[in-house]
Amino acid sequence: MLEPYACDPERSRGRRIREQAAAPGEHFRRDRDRIIHSTAFRRLVYKTQVFLNHEGDLFRTRLTHSIEVAQLGRTIAHRLGLNEDLVEAIALAHDLGHTPFGHAGQDALHECLVQSDPGGEGFEHNFQTLRVVDALEQRFPTFDGLNLSFETREGVLKHCSRRNAERLVATDGSGLGQRFIHRSQPSLEAQLCNLADQIAYNAHDVDDGVRSGLLVAEQLDEVPLLRELHAATSAEFPALADRRLLFETLRRMLASQVDDLTRTTTALLAQHAPRSADEARRMPTLVGFSEPMAKNGAQLKQFLRANLYRHPRVVETTDRARQVIRDLFGAYCNAPAEMPAEHARRPRLHRSVADYIAGMTDRFALREHHRITGRTLFD
Ligand code: MG
Repeated sequence: MLEPYACDPERSRGRRIREQAAAPGEHFRRDRDRIIHSTAFRRLVYKTQVFLNHEGDLFRTRLTHSIEVAQLGRTIAHRLGLNEDLVEAIALAHDLGHTPFGHAGQDALHECLVQSDPGGEGFEHNFQTLRVVDALEQRFPTFDGLNLSFETREGVLKHCSRRNAERLVATDGSGLGQRFIHRSQPSLEAQLCNLADQIAYNAHDVDDGVRSGLLVAEQLDEVPLLRELHAATSAEFPALADRRLLFETLRRMLASQVDDLTRTTTALLAQHAPRSADEARRMPTLVGFSEPMAKNGAQLKQFLRANLYRHPRVVETTDRARQVIRDLFGAYCNAPAEMPAEHARRPRLHRSVADYIAGMTDRFALREHHRITGRTLFD
């Protein structure tokens, strides 16, 4: 049962191009289905989350990350009476605009675009996700993109610079860019996906960090929440060690964040009592953690930044990944015919090159880099 503040498919702001309406229960599921069948979705399996794809088979990729976000999101949406199908669609689509090589790739592509096209959009991964679902996927006979509903598109556009929001307002009749100018909130389902994303990556980056050997289990006790849960797990299961101890600690961490988010949000919803999804958009953020849990999350993020994301071994690979992106960008701009014809022909060459590179998987980018430069930056 949906609560009055949930996104109701019957009151959806609709799709950009009119289609035969789905049965109400299937409106957002149609979005989810199109996302799952898209080319960009399949590419997520070979895109880096933190560890490059070739470093091991068990690390998260953007695909498994997106599935974990969808799982957490649906669980919490169900508890809050929010629209689970919409949450799932947003979660599965939220990283479709990511470049190969994670954030390093994105930063490098942004620098390339800013230098070659100073008045342009630059590269923002949320904005790129919207480009993927609105324009770059080509699967339908009469329109580009997936023609998703407003609410799913709103959910994937988590951040947007003022400049790009103004562009969007000028070119997109649906009003999608407005909230970044008027500073209102997206739907509660979108707010939820944002936090489910954080819960997922904080937990799986600890797991992958230990799996990689870049973090050692004892270090985790530097994070107060992990120390507390680790101690509680050891007290209950004194013989437990190694991976099972870590898994149980992380499982408890996920559960404690999900419970806290549900409790805190339930209280905020009771206090503000939005009577519709639109009323909730005009209120302050209503999906959130308690203050102590928000602090726990910030400490964990800080720990991961200092010890994993800036670990010399990670930095070294991300430096090389940046080089791959820069080399590819320069090569395609100089010789557009190196790209498939559909990209080479498009107007706005720099943008088209960025779209082509952004769509690549890690391993395709490395293969292309080797083909064009003859150099091997990764073994
Ligand atoms: Mg994500």
